[in-house]
Amino acid sequence: ARAAPEAYDTQALQRLDSAHYLHPFTDHAQLRARGGARVMVRGDGIYLWDSDGKRVIDGMSGLWCVNVGYGRDSIADAMHRQATTLPFYNSFFNTTNVPAVRLAALLAELAPPQFRHVFFTTSGSEANDTVMRMVRRYWDVMGQPQRDVIVSRHNAYHGSTMAGASLGGMAGMHAQGGLPIPGIVHIGQPSYAEHGQGMSEAEFGIKAAGWLEEKILELGPGKVAAFIGEPVQGAGGVIIPPPTYWPEIGRICDKYGVLLVSDEVICGFGRLGRWFGCELMGATPDLISFAKGVTSGYVPLGGVLVAERVAQVLIEKGGDFNHGFTYSGHPVACAAALENIRILRDERLVERVAQETGPYLKAGFADLTSHPLVGHAETCGMVAGLDLVRRKGSSVHDGERFDPSLAVGMVCRGHMFDNGVIMRAVGERMIVAPPLVMTRAQIDEMLERIRFCLDLTH
Ligand code: PLP
Repeated sequence: ARAAPEAYDTQALQRLDSAHYLHPFTDHAQLRARGGARVMVRGDGIYLWDSDGKRVIDGMSGLWCVNVGYGRDSIADAMHRQATTLPFYNSFFNTTNVPAVRLAALLAELAPPQFRHVFFTTSGSEANDTVMRMVRRYWDVMGQPQRDVIVSRHNAYHGSTMAGASLGGMAGMHAQGGLPIPGIVHIGQPSYAEHGQGMSEAEFGIKAAGWLEEKILELGPGKVAAFIGEPVQGAGGVIIPPPTYWPEIGRICDKYGVLLVSDEVICGFGRLGRWFGCELMGATPDLISFAKGVTSGYVPLGGVLVAERVAQVLIEKGGDFNHGFTYSGHPVACAAALENIRILRDERLVERVAQETGPYLKAGFADLTSHPLVGHAETCGMVAGLDLVRRKGSSVHDGERFDPSLAVGMVCRGHMFDNGVIMRAVGERMIVAPPLVMTRAQIDEMLERIRFCLDLTH
């Protein structure tokens, strides 16, 4: 039985927060001016409660991660059992542990067939740091150490470590702390709205993938080690590429011997209605970085799936790979992941996204375009974005820019939260990525609240 909800002194907590806690990605002076941080205290299913007892729909699954929803006692129980049996032991120096072994084998079963091996990390950022070191090590061992450049995309998000933020293409991050580090270059993102004027989507997909080939030729073939991309760019604004994009990226990587890396930190574990987003996009990656949905965020865990053609080179010829984290293969995190994946499987959540809730969310967002403030909406699985417009009927294609301040304002002024739904704003785009357990009735409830907020703003 759950304990009775605790009563919280919100202002006292906010004072302590403000006095001592440096938050990620936060302007603290602004946060103070707004009256302090909202204190979140409890979750159940798709709902969250703050310290004042207010209930909201978590339209963002935390940070795109709570795929099986909040309040799953069986995950907590699995973690508890493991923590009381063996809370920690490392997998350095010729040891391993039971949950890590079982999880590695399970991931090999779930991943596309080229994958049999996995390297564990604690986060998505560390997974992408690992990718960077691993692909360079691979080319070293292959006798091509000059293949050391990694191509990524503008506006991509690959994490917040030095390598993760450098692989990412966020201008705001690059402006601080001397980024990007050497050996990483960026090409345009496959945003049809931004760059697709005068072309069909299919034509644009080929053109955007062609930017990779141009970059490879500019740098000189034999120089590029890998290309990294998110199947659907998440933090960059839910950029869903045209269906021609990923197959063409794959063709170009094959042609020039470039390793293909799919960053599935958001797209993995059912978000797009497949276990891994690359399966939907028609791409065959050599490495997959993952995190978030592998444990539904109940405890930190990430990793890199490594295709056999890379893994076998590292295993048979690579000797020591001088890389790893204390918490690589952490037993409690791996136990949580095993139970999380059991839930995803037993409740057929991935199939549900593909067949039921994803299409239902798509239809609901399409309906929202009837609202005078909404210009365009698109979804992929359980990720959706809608673009706000200044003037109904306008679009970027007729030269009318969307109004970024509107979306950001609705989120930052707390308008959405106050009216019961958490969304995110990226530029002019409002985004949701709800827990995969969200039912059709709950999708309706979320859409109703979004429409209500739009009405209030209009
Ligand atoms: N890659 C992608 C696509 C992400 O969205 C994120 C986080 O949002 C990361 C990597 C970084 O993961 P983490 O925050 O666990 O380090």
